[in-house]
Amino acid sequence: MKIPLINLHPTMDDLREEIIEAVIKVIDSNMFIMGPEIIELEKEIAEYCFTSDSIGVSSGTDALLLSLMALNVGPGDLVLTSNFSFFATAGVVSRLNATPVFVDIDPETFNIDSRQLKRTLIEMDKETLKNVKAIIPVHLYGQCANMEEILNISREYKIPIIEDGAQSIGAECYINGKKKKAGNIGEFGCFSFFPTKNLGGIGDGGIITVNDSQIANELRLKRVHGGERKYYHRVIGGNFRLDPIQAAVVRVKLSHLNKWHRQRQDNAKHYNELFDEAGLNDKVKIPCTVHSKNLQNYHIYNQYVIRAENRDKLQSYLIEQDIGTEVYYPIPFHLQECFLNLGGKVGDFPCSESAAKEVLAIPIFPGLTSEMRQIVVEKIKNFYKKN
Ligand SMILES: *Cc1c(COP(=O)(O)O)cnc(C)c1O
Repeated sequence: MKIPLINLHPTMDDLREEIIEAVIKVIDSNMFIMGPEIIELEKEIAEYCFTSDSIGVSSGTDALLLSLMALNVGPGDLVLTSNFSFFATAGVVSRLNATPVFVDIDPETFNIDSRQLKRTLIEMDKETLKNVKAIIPVHLYGQCANMEEILNISREYKIPIIEDGAQSIGAECYINGKKKKAGNIGEFGCFSFFPTKNLGGIGDGGIITVNDSQIANELRLKRVHGGERKYYHRVIGGNFRLDPIQAAVVRVKLSHLNKWHRQRQDNAKHYNELFDEAGLNDKVKIPCTVHSKNLQNYHIYNQYVIRAENRDKLQSYLIEQDIGTEVYYPIPFHLQECFLNLGGKVGDFPCSESAAKEVLAIPIFPGLTSEMRQIVVEKIKNFYKKN
């Protein structure tokens, strides 16, 4: 049996008619730029994330870029972020001619290590500190970073937080005993509607959540080239608009999102049991969840990522066995060719370097059957019998 890493059919097929209807509605309205679908989605996402506003944008990458632009980040500025994430998290900083400052990860969660974050700030001199304009924690794979600590640091140093929640819409954590949703913690919450995210469109799209109407206005202004009045430009922005067809599709899917989170969590729970039964504890480390299971969305498993001994060989073996896997991510930021000019060397960030060598995402999509999960773990067990 072929088991792909990601299969969108189980979630798309049930909604096929509704999605087609929603797309046709946009086509028939002839409102192809902005319009009611965007306004409605922005209301619904703000409601879902418990924020006062949300601003639809062209992608998750542009959500991050526009947030930095709203903070007027530019040449000479520094932005602190995790050393282990999808490229966009750091790429957007460099695109504004600012410099990303990488921070190593917590080896348990793969999220930015808040103690290292603090240490990085402590070690900066006063002049350098003045240039730090934002912290971008990433909620990687579907689990919130240690936001309680990061929020403390943000307040102490008066540095705003841009949450990269591209993989974690709906994920929850506790802040000082209070339940909080991703995107409702920092100054900005950035989300992606890339089709393989938990809430995916049928193309590119994204959204930013905020709790400050002034910031919301700034984002809305810069989303459309910085012109409040058409053809009169106070500031420089860009074209960061969300496509109404994407908004219409995402609206259809939003009402099913929590159900799909549950299915991913059930799949993860079953995998955990299967790995335990297989007795692979010395070869495979299952994902660690640090947030309380009292939270419905303590982890939304955009990816189920194991640490595996002999990872590359295991992956090749699974490919031969028709099982889809992926390495998110094979190279930490400081060793990316385009960032070598920042002076990164092997050994600088040991936790992200070992993660890059060991992580492997296995299928977790809603619709993955119990039989498929058993086959995946069985094949992994077979591999370690021989290796
Ligand atoms: C997907 C993703 C992005 C970028 O989102 P796009 O919509 O693909 O531009 C940014 N950060 C992380 C962590 C992501 O997973």
